[in-house]
Amino acid sequence: MSAEILNGTRLAQRIRSQIRRDLKKLTFTPGLAVVQVGNDPASTIYIKHKQRDCEKVHFHSEVHRLPTDTTQRALINKVIELNQQKEIHGILVQMPLPDIIDGQAIIDVISPHKDADGLTPINLGNLFINRESVSPCTPTGIIRLIELTGKQIEGKHAVCVGRSHLVGKPAGIMLLNRNATVTYCHSRTKNLANITKQADILVAAIGKPEFITADMVKHGATVIDVGINSVGNRLVGDVKFDEVKEIAGYITPVPGGVGPLTRAMLLQNTLKLARQIET
Ligand code: NAP
Repeated sequence: MSAEILNGTRLAQRIRSQIRRDLKKLTFTPGLAVVQVGNDPASTIYIKHKQRDCEKVHFHSEVHRLPTDTTQRALINKVIELNQQKEIHGILVQMPLPDIIDGQAIIDVISPHKDADGLTPINLGNLFINRESVSPCTPTGIIRLIELTGKQIEGKHAVCVGRSHLVGKPAGIMLLNRNATVTYCHSRTKNLANITKQADILVAAIGKPEFITADMVKHGATVIDVGINSVGNRLVGDVKFDEVKEIAGYITPVPGGVGPLTRAMLLQNTLKLARQIET
């Protein structure tokens, strides 16, 4: 039997509707600032989507575009300025940054109280000690999609393929916080398929098109495909969707799975931060 498709687009719409309802009870307008350095075309598209999302929920949004040759010091100063700007409650610095800039050094400067992406050391530290407040957007979206199955996470074996600070590692910690038994796999993992085949929940965050094939997946597993890869003029995930959907119990599509949830979680984090600052 074919897997049930976890529709991220529809879930994201529901989350935005809830945010609009929540907003009616507030006396302030949440504000999100996005900083872009250079003009990477993919980043420009992502930022446009984020601006459109803000419009949909009536948030204030600003995009600060800096030239490609911006120095690390100038970018730090911009972030410090936004930390102090009253109408801004959430700050996101769009990655990747030009090579001359140390991305982590920039994230370090974002106030944890305005950390819309949940990636500052303070907020990641809170995640680590199971005190989740603003959590990274993509891993939080992953959890929301798993919850959509209605199946318990507790006691399940979750396998994360990928251990980046942005996705794989925090996704595994969030699953561990929900009492899953978590295994991390990465580029040095031996016998990968033997491990992925044991997963009740399989999170693929690798960045390699259609890397996870049907023979790597357990029957009935929940498969969350984080990957976004351009192949010709198509977008594909890290999972070979057509064959894995015949084995899995639940599966996310690409596009329309994790991506929309990541953006919805950015709005939710901004709202959470705005409430914390304003009340
Ligand atoms: P990343 O920083 O490049 O990390 C990739 C991870 O995959 C690393 O941990 C790497 O292992 C592991 N890996 C690479 N080759 C492997 C192999 N052959 N076997 C097992 N593991 C392997 O990427 P990322 O930022 O986590 O993103 C992953 C994917 O998700 C990308 O396609 C990205 O575009 C997408 N993404 C989507 C969203 C969304 O909203 N949908 C958000 C963020 C990212 P090592 O650590 O050993 O190098």
